[in-house]
Amino acid sequence: MFRAMPVEQKSARQIRLLSVDFEDWHQLVLRRLGAADSEQARPALARQTDALLALFDELGVRATFFVLGMAARSHPELVEAVARRGHEIGCHGDQHVLVNRQTPGEFAADLRRARATIEDLTGRAPIGYRAPAFSITRDARWAYDVLADEGFAYDASQHDTPRIRGRIAPVSVAPHRLELTGGRIVWEFPVAVWRTSRVRLPVGGASYWSVIPTGLVLRGLRRAGPLAGLYLHPQELDPRPLRVPLPVGTPPAQRARAALRSAQRNAARRRAPVVLRAIGERFRLIPYGEAYAELSGSAPART
Ligand SMILES: [Zn+2]
Repeated sequence: MFRAMPVEQKSARQIRLLSVDFEDWHQLVLRRLGAADSEQARPALARQTDALLALFDELGVRATFFVLGMAARSHPELVEAVARRGHEIGCHGDQHVLVNRQTPGEFAADLRRARATIEDLTGRAPIGYRAPAFSITRDARWAYDVLADEGFAYDASQHDTPRIRGRIAPVSVAPHRLELTGGRIVWEFPVAVWRTSRVRLPVGGASYWSVIPTGLVLRGLRRAGPLAGLYLHPQELDPRPLRVPLPVGTPPAQRARAALRSAQRNAARRRAPVVLRAIGERFRLIPYGEAYAELSGSAPART
């Protein structure tokens, strides 16, 4: 079906890949602020996950949840619930440390820890990976070898947005095979970016949907290349405003930074469901594993 894309696009909706970087925003923000109890489970992620699952049901779509090991250990029941609903479980690493700040050995250990957590909860080893903050940059190409060594079949970390310094500009906007030494292969599924002769417009991330008009997002997605990827975060679906409970004694400068982050996140939060509904009406959204299975000729990852 994917190989016949140009013909198919005349009569049917274009296919885009839907994903969630499944992490706990409060955990990550509090850890950055140095809170001692940052890993403690809080109620927000359950509320956000419910909202995400309800929206996906409403749209009749399944997605890939790239699960962070740390969040999965704090909220195991949520990961189990997501898997039970038929969504694919991928891996977002364990501690949300940027790949390009790790050594290959550290990266492998982080992957193993996350994979063990996910396997415990779902009974399956994830085959797909997304790097925290798309941090497989030019100086961290070794990460693909580690991913292959650790049994991952595809990566979804290439995002050609000017925001990422040292990013790898995908050789193709379509999914493609990365040929590694020893005949090993990892498939790459780039995030949706509308490339024109003048600009790169990242239209695949919900954090960008708050600053790009919906019409332009839809237009960009039509031109972003076959099977381009979309990503959301749970907090972007939170029905309540995001507010970080700052530890007592947080210095004013950090307090101000946290307030600014919250304001930006809340803007994205209000727009994400609106834009996703508009996308869902015009595109067919499928999980990454389904596209991978089709392209690589293997059995579907989920079933
Ligand atoms: Zn992340």
